[in-house]
Amino acid sequence: MSLDETISARTTRFVESTLTSDATAVRAHLTSQRVAVTLDPAVGGTFAGQMILFTLLNLLVRLELYAPQLEDTLPEVEHHSVLRLLDSCPFPRALERFFAPVPAAHRLRISTTPVECDAPTLRIVVGPQPIAGALTVWCAGWVSYLNAEAPFRVGDANSVGACVAADFAAAEVFKRLIAGLPLRPGLKVLPMDRLVFSAYDYQLSPGPNPPLPTAIDVDGVVVVGLGGIGAGFVTAASALPGLAGLLTLVDKDLLDQTNLNRLLYARPGDTGFKVHLSRRALSFHTEVDARVEWFDEFTAARGSQHDLIVVGVDKDLVRRAIQHSMPRLIFNGGTSDTASFQLTRHDYLHGACLACIATEEVDDYPVERELARQLGLDLDTVLQYLKSGEPLPVTLLRERGILTELDIERLGDRPLAEIQARVCAQLPLGTEKQQEAVSISFLSALPGFLLLGEVIKERSYPGAPRTPLNETANHLLLSLLGRPSQVLLGDWWQKAPGCDCLRPAYQRNYQRKWGKP
Ligand SMILES: [Zn+2]
Repeated sequence: MSLDETISARTTRFVESTLTSDATAVRAHLTSQRVAVTLDPAVGGTFAGQMILFTLLNLLVRLELYAPQLEDTLPEVEHHSVLRLLDSCPFPRALERFFAPVPAAHRLRISTTPVECDAPTLRIVVGPQPIAGALTVWCAGWVSYLNAEAPFRVGDANSVGACVAADFAAAEVFKRLIAGLPLRPGLKVLPMDRLVFSAYDYQLSPGPNPPLPTAIDVDGVVVVGLGGIGAGFVTAASALPGLAGLLTLVDKDLLDQTNLNRLLYARPGDTGFKVHLSRRALSFHTEVDARVEWFDEFTAARGSQHDLIVVGVDKDLVRRAIQHSMPRLIFNGGTSDTASFQLTRHDYLHGACLACIATEEVDDYPVERELARQLGLDLDTVLQYLKSGEPLPVTLLRERGILTELDIERLGDRPLAEIQARVCAQLPLGTEKQQEAVSISFLSALPGFLLLGEVIKERSYPGAPRTPLNETANHLLLSLLGRPSQVLLGDWWQKAPGCDCLRPAYQRNYQRKWGKP
């Protein structure tokens, strides 16, 4: 397999889980299109302008075999010194150097004079003023703007805001480029004509927007999992004004070429452990402890007195282990196979704990869970019918709608034990578990950017009301092919029945460890 095919492997899985067209046809469709990206010269020297442009190109170039032709026009300015992943040289050259090792870089043309580009599919302008016929993207502090009049704040340097704005723009580019291609059933692509999104309070309007302190307190913060989500966290953190205190990174994985579609700070040619590459991206800060360990090895070596754990792992088994180690606070991110992601906050006492929501691969009832999955029922229903021995009504199977009428007639109105025997003997075992995670650059990066935002909000504004995620909004869900929905940006998830976190003895343990929150 060639390098660009290897880098694109996970993106191909994303494309296949989203679109019904053959992946090769999707590639041809996307690569034939031209996207003109311009940095407004009026803001060419600013942090926001440069960080949005750099991140946007970084996300789009990593589409690799699915990347459109990118025509980038920007002014000849010095690169902003806080964009630490770039070499110190004029900004256009710094971008060229950064992207040079990436195979798709040959489809990125960087120019300081407007290019004669006949009829681009899409025009993107990085700047605060909406321009007719283009998609404009900007951020002011914590707030992202797409096609919306934005304030210009001199000296504003909020890497979370800039990365989030760039991510929404990259998703928007992708949505517009796949317009017209047939989607998998149940999926919807909804382009956005306009967006205002605050990473500070998750409102779809500008509100409170405090500046970042010059040094973000990360003392006692542990990031577990430096895959796509963790890499988003690290990439945005690499462009913060400064860090203070000990930041710990935990992951035993080596960089693999298939990770390069979403590890925004890594490029072909990089090798080694993800935690070491992450520490290199944060080399401006001396107190980064890179632990080449799985989480259980980490707690065995370092104990479990951790104030704040940021979770970027994709295994529920590890999520549960993290919750069981009882940190004071957990911020967790996870992506789905259908272009959405969730962000959750857990302090153990209020609402769902991380174990309440991380229920995949739970060791209890594996057979019954599998049976439930194949019949389209929930585990409780299966356990109830197994216990009672009552026949499982055909109406129930029909209601769930995942079996054919033939299977429903064959299996329905029988005790579940009998159905189980028949299912095991005759039905194919449903869709196989996926070998590799579905991923695309802008999907895994955004939860990582927002998790960094959560850490900053947690630590930087004592005295100010804590905006979501907080003790009344512990769950955020966002679809990157759809539009943000205000209701889903600040949802509340209750504790799951039967979870340890409901037991007073466990709650007292937490309180003894951390005091009453
Ligand atoms: Zn729980």
